[in-house]
Amino acid sequence: MTLLSVHDLRVSFKTGRRIEVRAVDGVGFEIAAGETLGLVGESGCGKSTTGRAIVRLVEPSAGTVRLDGRDITHAGRRELLSSRKDLQMIFQDPFASLNPRQTVHQIVSGPRRLLDHAGTAELLTKVGLSPEHAGRFPHQFSGGQAQRIGIARALASRPKLVVCDEPVSALDVSVQAQIVNLLADLQAELGLAYLFIAHDLAVVRHVSSRVAVMYLGRIVEIGPSERLYDDPAHPYTRALLSAIPVPDPDTEATRQRIVLKGDPPSPADPPPGCSFHPRCPVAQELCRVSAPDLREVNGRQVACHLA
Ligand code: SF4
Repeated sequence: MTLLSVHDLRVSFKTGRRIEVRAVDGVGFEIAAGETLGLVGESGCGKSTTGRAIVRLVEPSAGTVRLDGRDITHAGRRELLSSRKDLQMIFQDPFASLNPRQTVHQIVSGPRRLLDHAGTAELLTKVGLSPEHAGRFPHQFSGGQAQRIGIARALASRPKLVVCDEPVSALDVSVQAQIVNLLADLQAELGLAYLFIAHDLAVVRHVSSRVAVMYLGRIVEIGPSERLYDDPAHPYTRALLSAIPVPDPDTEATRQRIVLKGDPPSPADPPPGCSFHPRCPVAQELCRVSAPDLREVNGRQVACHLA
């Protein structure tokens, strides 16, 4: 059953001299109840802005966001508060997202005091903390523990969908796997759906049943994880995947890394045609003048003339 449906979502910002920056430029996908969609791409590709527009931390310029069939794209304050019960967010920097003057109990139970002390204690245990932590303040915790507090806060309203915005990229490598495993365990126990945003394809691999790859504000490939990882169709997905080290030493020794030229172009001045063409190792003349649409190719959708 479809839980979240995002259609033609656009987010534009005006910068000085009336330049319009299209941070998100027509993104669409669906997430089923209990499912994880990984959303990946380099920094600045619009993936975090997409997540923030869905929970309305930034205002969408166009398109629709439906949660459980309700159109929440331009929901008013009261409607937004009620949708926030079902739709929560976990942030990249756990310390920046926790109020340093509040105790863990105050943070987790939220301004509407969703939980009593027993409820907070139960939730803290669920996320791998101890009930005694409820009276402490954020600065008394490590980064991994602070992220567990952020996860507990997101779960207090018993949401159906959690937008996880780079939830492990600010943490030590040794702690990243623990948090990813915790999110997977909570999903299995509570039937949560996740939009899991990350710049690292290796991180989303183990948690996502489907993956969407973004480049310069658009989805360039979206499909089931195995298909995308085993047989990537878009040259950008191939390049991202080629950067992931392989555990098997023999395969790792022969791994051919595709190094992309230069940085992604600015969304304030996107190239004509396929926006990936200045960096694409297989670009043709057509790519410079014509932008490819997403189309069905071999069990996934790809935006590339050559796929
Ligand atoms: Fe590369 Fe052309 Fe495909 Fe764009 S459309 S990804 S430039 S081959």
